[in-house]
Amino acid sequence: MAGKREKNKFKKCPLCGGEMNDGITTLSFLMGEKVAIIKNVPAEICSDCGEAYMKSHVTGKVETLLDRIEELHSEVSIIYYEAA
Ligand SMILES: [Zn+2]
Repeated sequence: MAGKREKNKFKKCPLCGGEMNDGITTLSFLMGEKVAIIKNVPAEICSDCGEAYMKSHVTGKVETLLDRIEELHSEVSIIYYEAA
């Protein structure tokens, strides 16, 4: 897809300056005694060092998911991020 937001197409990795590409990552969070794993999260991933960065619109959604997980009683939760 030829984008009109051309200036956002090439981002640099804050760690190594490598090129960032859209991708999917798995996030894990430690919340007290609980472990939460969120799969299928859209992210920008550095092609050089592999570091993944959550997109800004994803962060809020992930926080909502974490709130929900905190109410569960399981020690380990694995959930899939679903867009929209
Ligand atoms: Zn990097």
